[in-house]
Amino acid sequence: MGVKTQEFLVLGGQTLTELRDKIFCLTDQMMQKAGQHDPSGYFLIEDVFCNDLRNPAAIDYSEPIFDWLRNNKDEARKKWECIITGELQQKQKAIIGDVASQLPHFKAVDMQKTRFCDLKFSLGAGYQYCHQGDCKHTIVIRDMRLVHPEDVQNRAAYPIAVFQLKPRVQKCYVCKIYRATKVTVDDKWAQGNPCYFCDNCYYLLHYKDGSLVYSDFSVYDYLHD
Ligand SMILES: [Zn+2]
Ligand SMILES: [Zn+2]
Repeated sequence: MGVKTQEFLVLGGQTLTELRDKIFCLTDQMMQKAGQHDPSGYFLIEDVFCNDLRNPAAIDYSEPIFDWLRNNKDEARKKWECIITGELQQKQKAIIGDVASQLPHFKAVDMQKTRFCDLKFSLGAGYQYCHQGDCKHTIVIRDMRLVHPEDVQNRAAYPIAVFQLKPRVQKCYVCKIYRATKVTVDDKWAQGNPCYFCDNCYYLLHYKDGSLVYSDFSVYDYLHD
């Protein structure tokens, strides 16, 4: 199980895209930097794929999944049975019979048209958020309640971030003083793999008279973990 990175307060009348736009993931930033940002994404809540199709370039990620389900009915049912009977015990299965072997009826809706109050969900269950191809996160709806007088009354302020994991920032492995700005992988002269450098130490170690001393390693810009 992962660690909680963010928590939000959302209003029942808000759309899932309003929440999506507040979710921070480093993959989004990296893809943006690399010029390969993909606006597609979905939430899978119970048996409903909520696809973000606001951007005309967005892809319906659920389509290949539906194709697979259509073309591999038996395999899909077997996998589903495995998931269900992994949770229940084999002997329980013997008692209740084959109730679990019925695949859920997955369907797809537009994320931008789906409000939280339109959803069927269980509190505390782990649902999926997928974006940038296959960057996946677990989403949990922890609690549901009425608005209190102490809550922020301005609707426009929601979704409100009530928790944000502090990003861990590496220091330069060489000087141990400055924040790292570069990270190298498979760098033969470095002290670690991966190894973190500030700009200064990176250039001191890797460059001589303005040219790279060796190049059989990978280097990336580093922001935070
Ligand atoms: Zn992500
Ligand atoms: Zn340094």
